[in-house]
Amino acid sequence: MIDITPTPEEVTLLKGIFGGEVEYISVGQIQNKAESLENAVSLSQSERETLQRLRMFLQRVDAVASNLFQVLNPSEDLRILEISGHNSARAEVGFFRTPWSPNFVHGPDTMIFVTKLAEKILKPGESICALERVTWKKPIANNAILTISEIESSPFSVENGCLFDGTLSTNLGRKLHFTSKERQGSTVQKVVANSNPYAKQVFCSCPDCYKSYGDVHIFDLKPPTADTQPYLLSTLCEIVTLALSKICHPDMSKERLDSMRLLGGIKNLELPSSAEAVFPPGGKLHVLIKPVEKKTGKSGMTLMPFEFRFPHQDQNSGSGIMAISYKQDMTEEYLRKCLKP
Ligand SMILES: [Zn+2]
Repeated sequence: MIDITPTPEEVTLLKGIFGGEVEYISVGQIQNKAESLENAVSLSQSERETLQRLRMFLQRVDAVASNLFQVLNPSEDLRILEISGHNSARAEVGFFRTPWSPNFVHGPDTMIFVTKLAEKILKPGESICALERVTWKKPIANNAILTISEIESSPFSVENGCLFDGTLSTNLGRKLHFTSKERQGSTVQKVVANSNPYAKQVFCSCPDCYKSYGDVHIFDLKPPTADTQPYLLSTLCEIVTLALSKICHPDMSKERLDSMRLLGGIKNLELPSSAEAVFPPGGKLHVLIKPVEKKTGKSGMTLMPFEFRFPHQDQNSGSGIMAISYKQDMTEEYLRKCLKP
């Protein structure tokens, strides 16, 4: 586990800024706070000082994280149990956490393993051309058995230990169904500092790069400086997550600091064969949120439907569901329920 325990001076500082118990303040909350100050129209002297201190703390977090930088080696974390020709494969997967998602595996990161396992059963000349659907069913704290198959297996339910499932399609017209079953007692131990190096490189939500018009939100995408292809599926899911985190709390209210957001699922995400198609110069990501269709889920979280369109999706938009909890106690309760063995 990466140690970013604040120094005694930082504890005093953070207590002064957030109040209450510092152990419960996540790096994400600190980033949100700094961001809300950065975006504020005008700042008082004391707010300016607070912002400066938060930036210093975040710099330290960054430094600690880069010192511990570990390049993910998926083969090490994907132990193949069975491959049946081009039809199906099964593997034991060792997930990882990140300093930004210290308690649970970040949903988009799971797509790295799905891609790697799918590649094991592709035919010559075959490539993955779309994520038809993925549903993340609960926060992931345990490692899993991942299965991918041309034949849709009987679905695991959440009670049965299913963490996520979905379908990929290929350029040869095949559908590859994946599902993951949690390995009880095998807690995710590995922490990597930079699981997906690309999403942050191409996505920015500063006022220059991000504009909103009612429920329509538009983000500029910057062309990547490195080859994103091996991680394209995970990167695109991650960018959608980053965009929604920005969109769902534009008001910078106190609620933003108390909120939790989980990406429930994504549908119809096309994957072109080159990253240049996704990130052309001047490319934009369009996101439409649909507050009229929002519902309250079983867990008490608000379920917000949305649509998105990357530059390469000129015809069909993708869609998805974001689960949002505005109240810290509701979040805690939800997590407790999900983690109950
Ligand atoms: Zn920007």
